[in-house]
Amino acid sequence: MKKWITSGGCKIHQVTKGRSNSYLVLDGDISILVDTGLENSRKELMKKLNDLLGGNDLSYLVLTHAHYDHIENTAIIKEKYGSKTVIQSNEAENLRQGNFLIPNGTNILTRIVVGVGKRIGRLTTYKKIFSHIVVDYNYSLSPKCHLVHTPGHTSGSMSLIVDDEVALVGDAMFGVFWWSVFPPFADDVPAMIRSWGKLLNTGSKLFLPGHGTENSRELLEKQYNKYRAKYI
Ligand SMILES: [Zn+2]
Repeated sequence: MKKWITSGGCKIHQVTKGRSNSYLVLDGDISILVDTGLENSRKELMKKLNDLLGGNDLSYLVLTHAHYDHIENTAIIKEKYGSKTVIQSNEAENLRQGNFLIPNGTNILTRIVVGVGKRIGRLTTYKKIFSHIVVDYNYSLSPKCHLVHTPGHTSGSMSLIVDDEVALVGDAMFGVFWWSVFPPFADDVPAMIRSWGKLLNTGSKLFLPGHGTENSRELLEKQYNKYRAKYI
């Protein structure tokens, strides 16, 4: 699976792919898992983590947001490694309740899907998790890794900035199409576009999303300029 090394020596390993991506970031002795994916990727995730950590503890478990497809393995990882879970304050309660409302669609197809889901009042559910660290805006996890609040996809979405070079962005953007970073679901599109501006301001060159493959700075700049004119 893919691996990136920043100029300051931080290592970023992709640990699951397919429907949802998870990444392990290593900054010296500090290890940070970003998102835990779906239950059906559990075996692969646990094995990869075991190999990469080589018997060491996992320092932090960062959840970019509380949608089920990013957190279904959180409870089991917390239990095994005793890591501190980190979530943004707007979503800490969802984690404690073990559910999350379906987000808004951003295109005709996802709007229809969401409309049907909301009419039958469906919530997505998962095992309840009691978080250890609740973040508001910015939070430093290690000398070269910090979290920033990047709302829009959900109000409590967060991104991890590694060495001011690589940003792990959850669903703040999508990596499935080569021509677009626009995710199919977002609760607040103008807020999400402003978050893209915030991410560009970190100086990051590469943006690793929760779904699909990495986005370049060039693509994000193009998309930001296009949608900024329309939404902000
Ligand atoms: Zn999501």
